[in-house]
Amino acid sequence: MPSRPLPCHADANAKHLRDLGHLYQFDFDLYRCEACEMPWVWAFSSYGADWEKVTGEDAEKMLAIDEPEMRPFMRVWAQEFN
Ligand SMILES: [Zn+2]
Repeated sequence: MPSRPLPCHADANAKHLRDLGHLYQFDFDLYRCEACEMPWVWAFSSYGADWEKVTGEDAEKMLAIDEPEMRPFMRVWAQEFN
């Protein structure tokens, strides 16, 4: 479980939706705030971990995408982590 409260609702439960894989030394996981339905990506590495903003559009893609296409999609989405 993420070790930080959600940025939008600190007291709300974060529901895990999908494992987004491991890139650029980070593990990425998609969550949704159970208070306001806002999607968030939890980015975890040995250097630190935090919530990252994700658009509703990208979150929908992350949920719908087939496993072989996940890695190329995430490589582009997570470019800033490289
Ligand atoms: Zn929220």
